[in-house]
Amino acid sequence: MTAEIICVGTELLLGDIVNTNAQFLSRELAELGISVLHQHVIGDNPDRLRALVLQAKQRSDLLVFSGGLGPTEDDLTKETVAEAFGDTLQFDEAEWQKILDFFARTNRRPTPNNRKQAMVPTKGHKVLNDHGTAPGAWFEDGGHCAVLMPGVPREMKAMWAEQVRPLLEQRQNCTIHSRTLRVLGGESAIASKVGALFESANPTAAIYCKTGECEIRVTARAANAAAAEAACNARLAQFKDILGDAAYDIDVPALEYTVVRALREHGLHAATAESCTGGMVAERLTNVPGSSEVFGFGFVTYAEAAKQQLLGVAAETIEHYHVVSGSVAAAMALGAAKASGAELAVGITGLAGPGGALPGKPVGTVYLAGADTRTEHGFLIRLTLGGYRERSVIRTRAALYALDLLRRMALGLPVPDATPFTPETDADTLDI
Ligand code: ATP
Ligand code: MG
Repeated sequence: MTAEIICVGTELLLGDIVNTNAQFLSRELAELGISVLHQHVIGDNPDRLRALVLQAKQRSDLLVFSGGLGPTEDDLTKETVAEAFGDTLQFDEAEWQKILDFFARTNRRPTPNNRKQAMVPTKGHKVLNDHGTAPGAWFEDGGHCAVLMPGVPREMKAMWAEQVRPLLEQRQNCTIHSRTLRVLGGESAIASKVGALFESANPTAAIYCKTGECEIRVTARAANAAAAEAACNARLAQFKDILGDAAYDIDVPALEYTVVRALREHGLHAATAESCTGGMVAERLTNVPGSSEVFGFGFVTYAEAAKQQLLGVAAETIEHYHVVSGSVAAAMALGAAKASGAELAVGITGLAGPGGALPGKPVGTVYLAGADTRTEHGFLIRLTLGGYRERSVIRTRAALYALDLLRRMALGLPVPDATPFTPETDADTLDI
C-alpha cells in the first residue's frame, strides 16, 4: 500500500509550529509496512487543497490528513475531501450531542459553527474522537481511501492509535506491536553495544536520541496479536540483557515516571535540594500524576544564604570548599533529608555557565549527592558536562542524572562512579 501525508494549516506554512504530526505519521505508516510517497503541508485554501487531493488520490492508495477539522469557516478540509472522494456530509445527532456535552462540561456555549464539526461522511464513516470535540472522517472511492484526523497532536495520536491504526492493520492483514525501551546514555555508546540488533527486518528496532538518553522503539509484525507481542518482547529482552540497568523502563513517557513508581513501590519518599538546576528535578517529579504520595519537599537554594538557612549547610563548609563542591552537595542532600523527613534526598550544585569557571572546576562541573537515611549512606558523583557548552543542556543533564540517582537508590541498584559518604564523613574526602 502507498500513502501520502497531508498536513493542513496555514500556521505550519508560516513556520509558527513544527510539523511533528508528519514525523509521527511517517514513522507509524512505515511500521505498518505502508510506503509513504510524499508529505505535504498546505494552507487553509480549498482550491489548492482540492487540486492536491485529486492528484494525490490518483497516485496513492491512502491519504492521511491532520488538521482542518476545526469549527471555523476557513476549515473546509472535510468538505473538500468529501467532494474529491465523491461523498457528501450529513449531520450526525450523536456527535452533536457529544459536542454539546463537552461545552456544558467546560462551561461554554457552542456557536452555530460548531455544528460543522458534527457533519460526518455519508458513504464513508466517522472516526470517533474520545479526546476532543471533532470526530475524524474516513472516505473511500475506488480502492483509494482518505482519513481525516484533528491537528492537535495529542488528539491526533490518540485517534490514530485507537481507531485508525487498527483499521489499517486489518487492511494490511497483519498485527503490529510496538514497545519503547528507554535507555540512559548517548546514541553512539548504545549503538556500539547493541548495533547488531538494529539490523533485523522483523522485529525492527529504531533508536531516537534525547538529551542524555535514547529511546529504542521495537516493532514486530505478525499474523496475530499474541505472536507480534511475543516477538516484540523477545527482542526487548535481548536489548535489556546487553544494556543492563541503563535501560530503565519500557513504555513510560520519561525517567521521572520510573522514579515515582519505584519510590511508591518501595514505600519511599524523596526530597530535592537544587541549586544550578533551579527546581528542574522537582518540576519533573511533580509532572507525574500521583507524585504527591512520594514527593513533598523541593528546595531551590540558589543563594548561599538559602543553603544555610533552609538546609543547614555550614557557612564554613561553603567558605572552605566553595559553594560548588562535593562537600556542599552532600550537606545539601543531608539537610534536605533532615528538613523533610524523606528517606531519600538529592543535592545538586554546579556551574551551568557560561561564565564562572573556577580553577580545577570548569563550566559544567556539577556535584550530585544522594542521601539515604535508611542506611545513613550517601553517594556523591562529580559530573563533567562542560563539553555540552550550553547552559540549558548542562542543567537538563544534571537533572536527568539526579533523577537516575534517585532511581538507583530507590531500587537498590549500584551507583556507578560514586564516592560513598555518611553524615560523619570528613568533608575533606568529599572534595573530589
Ligand atoms: P481545532 O478544532 O483545534 O481547530 P483542527 O483539527 O482544525 O483542530 P488545526 O486548527 O489545524 O486542527 O490545529 C490545531 C492546533 O494543533 C494547531 O494550532 C497546532 O498547535 C497543532 N497542530 C496542527 N497541525 C499540526 C502538525 N502538523 N504538527 C504539529 N502540531 C500541529
Ligand atoms: Mg483549526
